[in-house]
Amino acid sequence: MNLRVRKIYEALFALEDLREIYRQALPTGLDENEEKQLSDGIARVETIIRELKEGKGNPVQRVGDRLELRTREEEFININPIQPGGRLTPEARKALIAYGDGYSVCDMCLEGRLDKIRKPPVDEFHTELADFVGMDEARVVPGARRGFQAVTSSLLENGDVVIVSDLAHYTEYLAVEIAGGVIKEVPSGPKNIITGDAVADKIESVKDATGKLPELIIIEHFDYLFGNEHDVYGVGKVAKEYGIPFLYNGAYSVGMVPVNGKKIGADFVVGSGHKGMASVAPSGILASTDEWAPKVFRSSQIVGDVTGRRFENKEPVLMGCTLMGGTLLSMMASFPHVKERVERWEEEVKKSNYFIREFLRIEGNKIASECPRKHTLSKVDTRDSFDRIAKTHKRRGYFLSDELKRKGIVGEFAGSTRVWKLNTYGLSWDRIKYLSEAFIEIAGKYELPVR
Ligand SMILES: *Cc1c(COP(=O)(O)O)cnc(C)c1O
Repeated sequence: MNLRVRKIYEALFALEDLREIYRQALPTGLDENEEKQLSDGIARVETIIRELKEGKGNPVQRVGDRLELRTREEEFININPIQPGGRLTPEARKALIAYGDGYSVCDMCLEGRLDKIRKPPVDEFHTELADFVGMDEARVVPGARRGFQAVTSSLLENGDVVIVSDLAHYTEYLAVEIAGGVIKEVPSGPKNIITGDAVADKIESVKDATGKLPELIIIEHFDYLFGNEHDVYGVGKVAKEYGIPFLYNGAYSVGMVPVNGKKIGADFVVGSGHKGMASVAPSGILASTDEWAPKVFRSSQIVGDVTGRRFENKEPVLMGCTLMGGTLLSMMASFPHVKERVERWEEEVKKSNYFIREFLRIEGNKIASECPRKHTLSKVDTRDSFDRIAKTHKRRGYFLSDELKRKGIVGEFAGSTRVWKLNTYGLSWDRIKYLSEAFIEIAGKYELPVR
């Protein structure tokens, strides 16, 4: 446990308590009692700051009495497969402090529409988002999954076929299920890579079996199982040839990898805020072309039978407004950084490959993902190395987690030494080298040969 990290949290919490005094006081100013609370509170902050400087005192453990502090991003290197792209920027954390209250984005809502709010500049953000992924229109949604759902519920009738990858994420299946659709999976083959040809073959087999074309194709650029890159350009081309709308699933790309939906040939681009855009969960984006926007982002048509009430400015698939506070503001606050970081994707891939090369020096270690790596998420196979140790170790599979934790590394699937995933996204070169060295040292300790 890092005491200084804990002291920083404690100071932040103490400042929040000061802020609370103003939330309870009259707008005219503090009364005598409140002035006293304020000066006591300031003294407390000063004490904490002094302890922070000196590295002394008791470490704070909890928020309130039940929530443990989450300090893994401060105290450890986190290689969790799904978390690195959603790690908040300092700007996002500050936005969360300022805009954490419920409907905080609604202070100046003049039209009853989230994407038209000018202060904070939510309308401008929507334009920039569409541009960022090379599409015409964008909306924010509570997670990539809600983006899939908006599209499936707009496009599908009962029994309509949707083509997905055999490596597709479960949320794609559920989005099709809830809209009454039927899934047909494209095989990724022995290489675990989806090609345009494989999609075309599946379309033909659906056509042969049902006499109809599928209504939608959903393919991810990088799948969550291997982090392999799939031929989305090829899929876009095939989709165009058959005239079937193509939803590009960018959960593992938007916000990390440069994405241009139109160049890819996508009709929809879906991204995840909390997986790839350094944002609070649940958040994400759904972008579309001008061709499909009127269908997905259509206005409400319903009319109350007695009152005659209508809600024509609301978009039913989004249930009107979506991200009305800290989620959206965190996305907006991280966005300048996110726009800039996608330009550094090649460097992230380089670091990923550096780590993998070092990791492979340990005899028996294998990579289940494609090599060289094109992403920072990788599936590793340690059955012939660390798992051999686990077989006789008294902690079994937990020995590796224990050793890693001792070196300040967390995020691997606890207890797993067989086939597991890790993600190096956003780690500095120093951290990448430290991480590589840590695995080699652990191998050395257990006398696994290192090349
Ligand atoms: C994580 C993931 C999703 C789900 O994203 P959410 O934003 O959590 O809804 C969908 N598809 C793929 C390929 C993913 O990796």
